[in-house]
Amino acid sequence: MSTSKAKVKKELWKKAYKKLIAWYRDLDPSVFSRFLQEKAALRERNDIIYFDIIGRIRERAKALGYYTETIRSDGASLIAYLLGAVDDNPLKPFYYCKEHGWIRFSSSKEFYLDLNDKRLCTWCSLDNAPHRFETNGTNIPFEAYLWRGKEPQHRINVPTAFLEEGTQMLKNISDEYGVSLPITIEAESTLDLLHNLETKTGIKVTDISLHNEALLTAFCTENIEDILNIPNKELYRNMLRLCKPKSFFDLLKITGMAHSVQVWTNNLENRLKNNLCDFDEIPVFAEDIFLAIRTEMERLGINGEGLANEIAYNAVSGYYAENQMEDEFADCLILLGFDNWFKKFISEIQYIISKSHAVIILKRQLYMLWYKLNYPDEYSLIMECAK
Ligand SMILES: [Zn+2]
Repeated sequence: MSTSKAKVKKELWKKAYKKLIAWYRDLDPSVFSRFLQEKAALRERNDIIYFDIIGRIRERAKALGYYTETIRSDGASLIAYLLGAVDDNPLKPFYYCKEHGWIRFSSSKEFYLDLNDKRLCTWCSLDNAPHRFETNGTNIPFEAYLWRGKEPQHRINVPTAFLEEGTQMLKNISDEYGVSLPITIEAESTLDLLHNLETKTGIKVTDISLHNEALLTAFCTENIEDILNIPNKELYRNMLRLCKPKSFFDLLKITGMAHSVQVWTNNLENRLKNNLCDFDEIPVFAEDIFLAIRTEMERLGINGEGLANEIAYNAVSGYYAENQMEDEFADCLILLGFDNWFKKFISEIQYIISKSHAVIILKRQLYMLWYKLNYPDEYSLIMECAK
């Protein structure tokens, strides 16, 4: 690597650390530990440069009033969050006071949309104007980012109106570095719809609070066929019927299952139909497989994540559906206390979505639904025009 690239990286690590400290001044070793875990894994790689570039492109889009998304598993990285490459923080769900950088993790929720966003900050002194906590946190292990290989492709989704400028910006940055970067920018049709809805209603996507009971209810009961960008809508209806979602986290799981292959049909669907397990306990993301195995190992006092990492990594790519799981790994799962079903489930997965990708899809759908509920006329008009 050239000296200049090494210098850029050094500066970016400083920038990320400064953001961490500015964002979060309360002392919690788990946050620093996560930062340093990522730093150790990415130290010799160029990911931090790409996160920064993505952050800069997204910032420019935001300044022009465009909502963008970075898909796949960039949302598993705290560094990506700190540099603006993604909007969702991969730490456990938490309340956050911007004034003082105080953070309080939730002990009961799995996903930040299930936290109460009306809660007022209880920590700031009384002479401050009362202010609400912010919420964030998707609870995603960093390993999920690493499963995508040494130099994963990054993809920014933008509305068509920003495609040309974004592409030019990326090209200019590539020219500066003199290499082609593993980043693509693509127009996404739902983002076009959202952009049109923003223009028509005067309400920005980023000003909408998704923490909304009405939204949750509507997602399960309204006719939202036009919002769901999934291959089989009947399958989705079946999921709602069997899973009876009660939280945004439940919706996230359903979104995940709807976008995976050979996870629901003939698998989780049968388990639930036959009351062999509860919806709460089924693994639906690649990360769930990793965490389930790691948790069992910890319970038995075994440190190290090798087995959990290997099995989750292979499941993500559908490796076991193509090639049989090695006997020694299959035996390990049984020794760890998993039943044959779990082993069979993993062996049949053709594609299992990452949690961070599911978060992006769910949010996109919820924003659409919010406009549909709050601005039905504008919504119908724009959907009609898009046909
Ligand atoms: Zn406060």
